[in-house]
Amino acid sequence: MKFGGSSMGSADRIRVAAQLTADQQSQRPTAVVVSAMSKVTDLLLDTLRHAENNDPDAVAQNLATLRSRHHATAQNLLPAALLEATLGEIDSILAEFERIAKGMQLLGDRPSRSVDEAIAVGERLSALLLAAYLNNQGTPAAAVNAARVIVTDAVFGNATPLLDLTRKKAAEHLAPLLAAQVVPILTGFNGATADGKPTTLGRGGSDFSASIVAYALDAAELWIWTDVDGIMSADPRLVHNAKVLAEVTYAEAAELAYNGAKVLHPRTLAPLVEKKIPVWSKNSFNTAAPGTYIAPSLTSPGQGARAVTSMANVAMVSLEPASAEVTGTRIMARALDALAMVGAEVLTFSSSSYRQSFCFLIRQDELPLVLQALRETLALEIEHGYLRPIEVDDNVGLIAVVGEGMRGSAGLAGRIFTAVSREQVNIIAIAQGSSELTINLVVPRHGVEKAVKAIHAECRMGD
Ligand code: ADP
Ligand code: ASP
Ligand code: MG
Repeated sequence: MKFGGSSMGSADRIRVAAQLTADQQSQRPTAVVVSAMSKVTDLLLDTLRHAENNDPDAVAQNLATLRSRHHATAQNLLPAALLEATLGEIDSILAEFERIAKGMQLLGDRPSRSVDEAIAVGERLSALLLAAYLNNQGTPAAAVNAARVIVTDAVFGNATPLLDLTRKKAAEHLAPLLAAQVVPILTGFNGATADGKPTTLGRGGSDFSASIVAYALDAAELWIWTDVDGIMSADPRLVHNAKVLAEVTYAEAAELAYNGAKVLHPRTLAPLVEKKIPVWSKNSFNTAAPGTYIAPSLTSPGQGARAVTSMANVAMVSLEPASAEVTGTRIMARALDALAMVGAEVLTFSSSSYRQSFCFLIRQDELPLVLQALRETLALEIEHGYLRPIEVDDNVGLIAVVGEGMRGSAGLAGRIFTAVSREQVNIIAIAQGSSELTINLVVPRHGVEKAVKAIHAECRMGD
C-alpha cells in the first residue's frame, strides 16, 4: 500500500493510514510506501534554493517550519515514553538536510546529485512517524530507507530503477521483515545507484516507488491511497461533474498519467505489466468508496471516450525544410536524435508530407535544452539555409481524450473537434497513436479548460 502526501499530511491522517495498514496486515503480509507529508517536498526544495542564493535567514526559517511540523505531529501521535527518541531521530534527519543545504550555500550552487541526497528526508521523516505510531499501536513496523532497496541508474532527479538488482535487495532487506510479520514502511520517491549514490524518481515519484516494490516482492495487489475516490473522467478541480471510473486498463491509466492526470505518476504501471499485478486507486479520506481497479483488461468493455486530461506546461516546436535539397525525413531524424541526446520526451508528434514540415510537443522546462541541442545538431542545415527558422509556441496546452472503447469508433474524433470548435478554441495540432486509445489535441493555453469541459460534456463522460 502507498500513502500519498495528503494521506500522510497530519497526525489524524497518519492514524487513518496506520489503521488501514493494521487491517491489511492482520489478513496478509503488507508492505507500505509513504510520501512526505503534504507540501514538505516543496518546502525542502525551496530551502535548497534559498541556500544556493545565500539567504541563511530563509533557510533557518524553513528548517524551523519543518522541525515544528514534524515535532508537533510526533507529539500528537506518540506517548511521552516514546517521544524523546523519535524527536531525536527527526532532529538528526533534519541535521543531515541542513548539512547539505549549508554545503550549497558555500558553493553557491545546487548540484542535482546533492538535491537528490537532500530531498528524500521528507519521506524519511514520514516513514519514521508512521512506523513509530504503528509500533506503539501494537503492529510491528520498521521504517526502511528505499535507498537501501531501490537500485537505479544515475539520472539524478529522474532515475530509472534497475529491477533485477532491486529484486535482490528486496529479498535481502524486506523479505525477512515480512517473514517476521513486521510491516516495512519504505520511503517513497528515492533510491540509490548500485554504488550507493542517492537518487530520486521525479516529482510525484512515490507511486512509482510503490509499483517497483510491488514488482520486487511479487505482490498480489498494489493499493494507492490518495485524496480522491479513484481515477476520474477528468481532473475534478477542472470539471465539477467528473465521475470515478470503476475500472481502467493499465494502458488507459498510463495514457492519462502521461498526459497530465496527476493522480498517478506516469511510470507507475510499467513495472506491473509483466506480472499483471492489479492496482486499486483509493481514497484514504473516504475508505468506504470502492476506488478504481486498474488491471490488464476490463471486465466489461469500455464505451467510447472515457476520460479527458490536460497539461499546460508544454511547448510546441515546429521545423520545416527551406530547400528541396534536404528532405523532411532527414531533418526529422536529426531533430529526434537531438531530443534523444538531451533525454527530452516527445509528448506528441505531427507531420505533413507535402510541406515536409513537422512539429512536436515537449515539456516547457525542457525547452532551453532542446533548442540548444536542435541548433547544434542541425547547425550545418541552418548554416546552408536548408531549414526555416525553428518556430516555438510556448503558449499552448495538450489535451488527451482516452478510452479503450475508442478503437474503431467512427465519428468520435469529428464530434470531439466540433465540440472544441464550438467553444471558439482553435485546434493547433492533432495526433492519434496507432493504438487508437488516445486522441491528442494541442490548443492555445487559454482554451485548455474550456476544451476539456466541452469534450467531457460532448462524450457524456460524467453520466
Ligand atoms: P498523492 O499526494 O496522494 O500522490 P496527488 O495530489 O499526487 O495525490 O494526486 C491526486 C490528485 O490528482 C487529486 O486530488 C486530483 O486533483 C488530481 N487529478 C488530476 N486528474 C485526475 C483524474 N483524472 N482523476 C483523479 N484525480 C485527478
Ligand atoms: N514527495 C514527493 C513529491 O512531492 C514524491 C511524492 O509525493 O510522490 O514529489
Ligand atoms: Mg502523487
